[in-house]
Order: sequence, then structure tokens, then C-alpha cells
Amino acid sequence: MATTADSQSKSVCRRCGFTAVSGSDDWNRISAPPFRRVTQCPECRSTDVTNRQ
Ligand SMILES: [Zn+2]
Repeated sequence: MATTADSQSKSVCRRCGFTAVSGSDDWNRISAPPFRRVTQCPECRSTDVTNRQ
């Protein structure tokens, strides 16, 4: 079983450039209907977060 640490997908805030592993505790998670869960940047509070590998 090979673990590829580099293949962890990361999320990037498109507003301030904050980068952290997707789904990690570094990100805030908020409930924002109609979306179930939205990832929010802890730095600038933007929800304009995109995934990057
Ligand atoms: Zn940000």
C-alpha cells in the first residue's frame, strides 16, 4: 500500500491565496443554505475557495 503524501488535494482561497489541505481543520466550515456545507477561509472569511491538487 503506497501512500502518496503529495497527492493530497488542497484548497486555495481565491481571494487572499490561503492554502491548506482540503477538509482539514485549517478551514472553517459554515452552513449556508441552500448549500450543505461551505468551506470558508479563516483568513479573510471568503467562501470563494477552489480545489487544487
Ligand atoms: Zn482568504
